[in-house]
Amino acid sequence: MSIAQNLQKINTTLPSHVTLVAVSKTKPVSDLMEAYNAGQRIFGENKIQEMTEKWEQMPKDIQWHMIGHVQTNKVKYMAEYVSLIHGVDSLKLLQEINKQAAKHNRVIDCLLQVYIAEEESKFGLDENELEEIFHSDGFKLLKNIKVVGLMGMATFTDNQTQIKKEFLNLKSIFDKLKTEHCQLNTLSMGMSGDYQLAIECGSTMVRIGSSIFGGR
Ligand SMILES: *Cc1c(COP(=O)(O)O)cnc(C)c1O
Repeated sequence: MSIAQNLQKINTTLPSHVTLVAVSKTKPVSDLMEAYNAGQRIFGENKIQEMTEKWEQMPKDIQWHMIGHVQTNKVKYMAEYVSLIHGVDSLKLLQEINKQAAKHNRVIDCLLQVYIAEEESKFGLDENELEEIFHSDGFKLLKNIKVVGLMGMATFTDNQTQIKKEFLNLKSIFDKLKTEHCQLNTLSMGMSGDYQLAIECGSTMVRIGSSIFGGR
């Protein structure tokens, strides 16, 4: 099936409250343009340099999402154009994004990444660290970022019960935080292999790569 057909198939299964991020990392601009011409306007990349090269070459009505781990010293390269940063995992990184956003007179939307998997290698904050950020004085001073939600990645496993447990855990953290912080409206969870389960568990944003563009 073509990229356009893959997109159409996925879009017919997504409820209207769920946003699709087409994860195009490692794929050539020609593949992204195929998705663009089929109507897709939100693309996710995990490397700042690669995303910036694509941003330079592609139409300017695209919303670029950074879904990978962000190094503080590279924020400046995407501050002019990035529309949502999914993987924020420290106050220090939020402060740098704020500083770079201010230079461009922008407010950059961010998601805080929560650690829900049982794998050592994944990044993210635990519940206490989340609370600490929200309640810190440093956070309240940041006028050029807006935390609009949470992002999480489940353990890489075939065990659906385990994945579901992790997604529901993230959803419950999200709901709890939302009662205090009403600007939270986005819960980014679910990839090609588990997005349907993620949506059942309350996801509002899915990040899908290989089911659209093929394997990497
Ligand atoms: C690569 C990636 C995805 C997409 O993965 P697929 O399995 O190809 O859909 C989603 N989220 C993150 C953070 C990624 O790095």
